[in-house]
Amino acid sequence: MSTTSPLARLLESKAPLSSEIEVHLFERCNLRCAFCGQDHDDDTGLASIREKAKPILEFIRANPRRDHTINLMGGELFADDLPDEAFEAYADLATKVARGARELGHRCRFNWVTNFIFDRRDRVERLLAHLDEEGIPAFLATSYDLHGRQAGRWSIEVFRANLEAFAHRVHTVGFVLTKPTIRALLADGDAFFRELYARYDLYFDYYVPESGASALMPSDDEILSAYHFVAERYPRIQPVRDLLERERNAMTCYSLNKTTILPDGRQVKCRYLTYKPGDFRHEVDATSNENIIWGHLQENECLGCEFFGRCGFRCFVQADWSKRQRREECLFKDFFRRHPVRPAGSA
Ligand code: SF4
Ligand code: SF4
Repeated sequence: MSTTSPLARLLESKAPLSSEIEVHLFERCNLRCAFCGQDHDDDTGLASIREKAKPILEFIRANPRRDHTINLMGGELFADDLPDEAFEAYADLATKVARGARELGHRCRFNWVTNFIFDRRDRVERLLAHLDEEGIPAFLATSYDLHGRQAGRWSIEVFRANLEAFAHRVHTVGFVLTKPTIRALLADGDAFFRELYARYDLYFDYYVPESGASALMPSDDEILSAYHFVAERYPRIQPVRDLLERERNAMTCYSLNKTTILPDGRQVKCRYLTYKPGDFRHEVDATSNENIIWGHLQENECLGCEFFGRCGFRCFVQADWSKRQRREECLFKDFFRRHPVRPAGSA
């Protein structure tokens, strides 16, 4: 399997310690976020939630890692208009996978990804209580949009209330570094974002190109500005925190040991959208990212780079986007030069 390929062996020292299994149970959603390429009116997968246990367990069984992060997402899994049976199917799916993994001597943690826009908390509480009874590690992961998603009064109030109610379960609050988000981040005028920073582990995700990429894709200069700003103003946000505090870091991308299971059961690495010819510098291979990882390593001469140990690389799909406005030199070199490693907790 891909984890023992020549590339995986070359990057052994950079490999994350767990695998990642990303499961899109369905795309139906109660929000329409600008950076999301899904079809939020599509119910495919809603009737086959339990069936996803099989490919998950097959991936675990064949995996050299013993720890697995399972990110379960929609669409929106906890939307109010979903039937109660969906929640029963979530519980059955997680229980079957956790028990199967235990029998194989593996460990799983389940992150339920939610936008926190729902009123019916009781169903989520029952699901989590059931997983607790089974001894299954279960967390919630959410994201905040500095530029829009929760801008409406109704949605921000619901988001805040649910975040508060489930605070003890929240593993991370993410935000996607799009061009408009970077602009809002640098303007530093969002009091709620500062509140989140004080109370939660924040994490930013790279924007993965979809149909809105011409407006949303940040240039390398913009990403670098965001990194510098975060290092100076919000240094506990991941993955910047690790880059500031640790001499050696794993790559942030899991795609050398990852599968993405789509609503219709198809498995891909991470690219499931339809792209046009020429959108990427390298040919699109839905089942492997190895060609774009090689492309990144070669373009930047990473293997001979003085910061190889410290670097977490980046999202390789984003890096390979043909219309990305590139810097002449890798942006992370500039970041590392300006920010030498500082002792943990000194931020
Ligand atoms: S700093 Fe840039 S060139 Fe160096 S290892 Fe990281 S991505 Fe590669
Ligand atoms: S290449 Fe990007 S989208 Fe794909 S798994 Fe890595 S970080 Fe995620």
